[in-house]
Amino acid sequence: MQRDIATPIRTKEILNKYGFSFKKSLGQNFLIDSNILKKITEAAGLTKEIGAIEIGPGIGALTEHLARTSGKVAAFEIDNRLLPILKDTLSPYSNVTIYHQDILKADLKPIIADQFQDMKDIMVVANLPYYVTTPIIMKLLEDHLPIKGIVVMLQKEVADRIAANPGTKNYGSLSIAIQFYTVPETVMIVPKTVFMPQPNVDSAVIRLTKREQPAVHVKDEHFFFEIVRKSFAQRRKTILNNLVNGLDKGRERKDEIIVALEECDIDPARRGETLTIQEFGKLSDTLLPLFQ
Ligand code: SAM
Repeated sequence: MQRDIATPIRTKEILNKYGFSFKKSLGQNFLIDSNILKKITEAAGLTKEIGAIEIGPGIGALTEHLARTSGKVAAFEIDNRLLPILKDTLSPYSNVTIYHQDILKADLKPIIADQFQDMKDIMVVANLPYYVTTPIIMKLLEDHLPIKGIVVMLQKEVADRIAANPGTKNYGSLSIAIQFYTVPETVMIVPKTVFMPQPNVDSAVIRLTKREQPAVHVKDEHFFFEIVRKSFAQRRKTILNNLVNGLDKGRERKDEIIVALEECDIDPARRGETLTIQEFGKLSDTLLPLFQ
């Protein structure tokens, strides 16, 4: 087995060899600690029967660990300057395919069908570019891909919001959007020192295990998420005020909104942050006929 990419010395050697300079705008903070990479792949529960999708392989630090522990790797990198580097650093591994694509624009379903047909499960594993953490996770979930779960490094502050429970300050529309599709767990908090260059914020690794069915059955998912977003528009306001001000013709329908809230046993004076996903589900189904 060759020397790990994820050491300060080898990373510097590779960067110097290619005259590579980091682009802050692309969220380029490379991992230089193999122990963290081992913990990430362990958290993903990889085996040779599992295919791995990676977002942003960088110079291949995580990719080589995925190549060693999973059956196949499909990695998406936006920065064309990294392609010759990856070709070089990953040359010992025959089970890796690099796609030069923006993950937000990639059509993943045909790639998954093509790459992973002989795999039992698929996991997404990545050290995410922090400027697009939320859009990437939401795309992976909203595209309804046949994946088992997602294990990613991200900003600790975002991990805290994703895993938050009702009634806490971090609980909001992001917690609900992600908990609707998955069960989140924080795997570990990660110090800045394991990155080159070091990011300005603290980091964490989270595991999102996809649910067989969404956390709550709703008649209209789009309307459910609209109600959730509008309920948190102004956190200090009551759910009633947020819905009256946020929904189309909400002011005219204030009395009907109060009746709907009461029908769901939700006190109109409560704040959005106290409602569970199940309560939001019931509320959106009750409001739907009024706003269809
Ligand atoms: N995986 C490497 C590691 O852990 O050392 C690099 C991680 S670095 C935090 C994020 C990587 O994502 C960079 O290589 C960056 O160029 C890439 N990237 C940024 N935006 C992207 C996008 N929209 N689609 C695909 N890759 C992207």
